[in-house]
Amino acid sequence: CGIVGVVGKAARDIILNGLTNLEYRGYDSAGIYLNDLQGNEYLTKAVGRISNLKDKLTDDEQGLVGIGHTRWATHGKPTEDNAHPHFDSSRRFYLVHNGVIDNYLELKEKYLEGVEFKSETDTEVVVQLIAKIAYDEDLDGFSAFKKALKLVKGSYAFLLVDNTEPDHVFIAKNKSPMMLGLGDGFNIIASDAISVLDQTKKFVDLHDGDVGDITKDAYVIENIDGEKVEREAHVLDIDP
Ligand code: GLU
Repeated sequence: CGIVGVVGKAARDIILNGLTNLEYRGYDSAGIYLNDLQGNEYLTKAVGRISNLKDKLTDDEQGLVGIGHTRWATHGKPTEDNAHPHFDSSRRFYLVHNGVIDNYLELKEKYLEGVEFKSETDTEVVVQLIAKIAYDEDLDGFSAFKKALKLVKGSYAFLLVDNTEPDHVFIAKNKSPMMLGLGDGFNIIASDAISVLDQTKKFVDLHDGDVGDITKDAYVIENIDGEKVEREAHVLDIDP
């Protein structure tokens, strides 16, 4: 299972190549969300190999922001509906996730009564919860994400896009791997650095408990209480 996200550069091939480089982690299905920042978004999922996902994408389905995922099913069979990215009922938020949400049933029962679920995954509970908090409390995506994370228990590397603010990717890490790669006018998030080493050698190590707001020229990392944390970049001196 792996994740790759891109902000500020033609995202599709970087994501597909990155996911291919992450194949060693194992997976049963894959998916990608792309937003061209001109009002068009594309969500594509496929069971099986990444080549199945590639075959489904048409040439015009491109984006300057995107998130991609390879899934190793833990909750729900390896089907197309259970493949990530998952989205809330209003289709505002798109989320990919590596890891396991321990209290997803409790969250579902406590906060999401009446919500119609499209998948059997633990992950969809989180994206529906983010949307519920955003609408109920009239919060922006990043604030709703942080508030939802306070309720979530488990392991995760999350990448979130809010399509009312699509030039951001919001991230969170706890006990699942995730790196931030810094480019010139773009930024990349991935499960490991090697998978995107053809794009940049400059990386920021993220720590458990980190939450972030990534745009093409900047990154803000905070802890779950919203306090800023400094995460220095370093250069990885290896060849792809
Ligand atoms: N628990 C999630 C699922 O079953 C994510 C699994 C993964 O890490 O790929 O969909």
